[in-house]
Amino acid sequence: MNGEDVRGEDRPAPGDRSDGGGGGGGGMRLAREREELCEIGRRMVETGLVLGTSGNISVRRGDLVAVSPGGVALDRLTPAGCPVLDLSGTVLEGTRKPSSETPMHLAIYESTGAAAVVHTHSQYAVVVSSTMSELPPIHYNALLLGGLIRVAPYATYGTPELAAHVRAALEGKQAALMANHGAVAVGAGLEQALEGASLLEWLCAVYVQAKMIGEPHILTDEELIAVIERAARG
Ligand SMILES: [Zn+2]
Repeated sequence: MNGEDVRGEDRPAPGDRSDGGGGGGGGMRLAREREELCEIGRRMVETGLVLGTSGNISVRRGDLVAVSPGGVALDRLTPAGCPVLDLSGTVLEGTRKPSSETPMHLAIYESTGAAAVVHTHSQYAVVVSSTMSELPPIHYNALLLGGLIRVAPYATYGTPELAAHVRAALEGKQAALMANHGAVAVGAGLEQALEGASLLEWLCAVYVQAKMIGEPHILTDEELIAVIERAARG
């Protein structure tokens, strides 16, 4: 959540054509990516991964990043309302202010090869991140995110401290939890980052529910290696 201004009207995108982003021309920069932000945002609300204005998403192409704006529910995004920034955070286009969590998105792009970032306050991610320092691999699908998932220490939203904690927690992983806050997943595109965020939420839910009826078995390194070897055989 953030306290950003929610007033104002998004205008329809002028000359909304996919001209490849990056360079000038008459169309919007990152037009296709901004459309995709709207689509992915809608799906995140529809599937219950985010509520209201919680959570934010971004996508990178080359030296440009399109990010969801602050104070707008993710199912209410418009392409023109999604700001386009350079990697230093300078806003180049867009009718609204970038999400307050933009420093975290930019820090992730700076240190990883990710092309998309999805951040949620999904319920089970918050439950786990508020009680544990890591999510152990309870199911072999955790390998898709890098196995054990770290919980980045708490820091106030939107701060460089939080961005640094999350960047460290993501090292070698496709996802991380954020203490008393939520989750973040990265990917080669928004679809993949969304899948990662959904998988992480599912893993957190499974873990919490397993704890209700007993002490869950956590997959050993040996068991995880066997999965990797099995997958390599096709
Ligand atoms: Zn947040």
